Amino acid sequence: MDWKVPYIDLPLQFDNLKDELLEAMTRVMAEGSFILRQDVTAFEEQMAHFLGVKHVIGVNSGTDALYLSAKALELKEGDEVVTVAHSFIATLSAVIHQGAKPILVDIQEDFNMNLELVENAITEKTKAIIPVHLNGRLCQMDRLLEIAAKYNLTIIEDAAQALGAKFKGQAAGSFGLVGCFSVHPMKTLNCGGDGGFLSTNDDQIAEKLRLLRDHGQQKKTDLVCFGYNSRLDNLQAAILNVKFKYLPKWIARRRALAAMYAEALADLPLTLPPAPSAGDYFDTFNSYVIRSAYQKELVSFLGEKGVCAFVHIGKPLNHHKALGLPSFSIPVNEKICGEICSLPIYPEMTDEQAQYVIACVQEFFKDKQ
Ligand SMILES: *Cc1c(COP(=O)(O)O)cnc(C)c1O
Repeated sequence: MDWKVPYIDLPLQFDNLKDELLEAMTRVMAEGSFILRQDVTAFEEQMAHFLGVKHVIGVNSGTDALYLSAKALELKEGDEVVTVAHSFIATLSAVIHQGAKPILVDIQEDFNMNLELVENAITEKTKAIIPVHLNGRLCQMDRLLEIAAKYNLTIIEDAAQALGAKFKGQAAGSFGLVGCFSVHPMKTLNCGGDGGFLSTNDDQIAEKLRLLRDHGQQKKTDLVCFGYNSRLDNLQAAILNVKFKYLPKWIARRRALAAMYAEALADLPLTLPPAPSAGDYFDTFNSYVIRSAYQKELVSFLGEKGVCAFVHIGKPLNHHKALGLPSFSIPVNEKICGEICSLPIYPEMTDEQAQYVIACVQEFFKDKQ
C-alpha cells in the first residue's frame, strides 16, 4: 500500500544520501575490504567517542550483542537475570541461551523497568540486571547502579533503541558493564541489513567480546577460546560511517516531531510519552508510543487514512505460551500492552506529514471525549 505517512521512510533516506552512500559502498567493493577492515575500526572509534566509552565492538546484530554479553559474563544454568517482559524477545533469548533464568519485573508509565520492584526480585542466584531503554528513553540509571552495587550485580544495558539518549547528561550504554546496540533498519542509526555493536569501559570484557565475535582468534594466529562468527560487515560499517554524521540532526528532528505531537495531542483522551524536554532525561524517540482505550480501532482508522501506525509489543513476552516462560505479576505491563500504538516518527518526516497524523488522531477522538 502507498502510505501518505509511512512508519519510516528508508527509500527516502537512501535517496537523500545516495551519492555519499554509493561512493562509500563502491569503494569498499572495489577494494575488496570486507571483514574487520578500516571502516569497522573507524566506526568503532567514532562511536566510542560519541558515547564517551573506552571501547566499541562491532557485531552482526543487536541480538548477538546481547548474547555475546551474556557469554562474556559467563551466565550459566541456575543464574537469574532481572529484566522486563516489555521488550523485543532478544533481551530474553540472550539469557535463555545461556541456560539462565529471566526474572521479569513490571514496568512503569514510561514503559521502562519499575525500579521500586527490582530489589524484591533479587535472590541469591541473581547475577545480572538487564534494563531495556525502550523507545529511546533511559531507565533511571543512578538508582539502578545503586541497587546493582548493593547486591554486587552486573548491569547489561539493552540500549538497542536508545542510541544517543542520555540520563543526567550521560549516554545510554555507558552506565553498565556493557551496552548492547542495534543498527537494524528500524533503529535511529541503521545500516543495510543486520548490524549491532557493544560498548564498555572494561578492558578485559572488551578483549573477551572481540575474541567471541571472531572465532576466538587473537592477532589472526592464536586461537584462545571457542568463539562465534558475529562480525559487523565492513560494508555495513562504511554505510554507518556515512549516516553517523547525520545522527545528531536526526535525533534533533525526532525530538522536534515528538514535541509537535506532544503539544497537539495533549487534550485528547490519550496518555502520551514524556515530552522531550523532561529534566534528567534526553529522549531520542526511536518510537513515539501513545496509549488509549481504543488501540485496535485507532490503528485501523489511521491505516484507512494512509497513516502507518503499529502495535509493537502486543503482549508481554512471557505471555507467548509456546516459549514456556513462567508467569510473573506484571499488571502495568499487561494493561499497557492493550493500549499502546506507535505513531510514525522518522527524521525525513515533514511538518505537513506530522500535521496530517495529528489531524487524523484528532478526527478519531472527535466523538470520544
Ligand atoms: C531491535 C532490538 C533488539 C535486537 O536487535 P537486532 O539488531 O534486531 O538483533 C534487542 N532489544 C531491543 C529492545 C530492540 O529493540
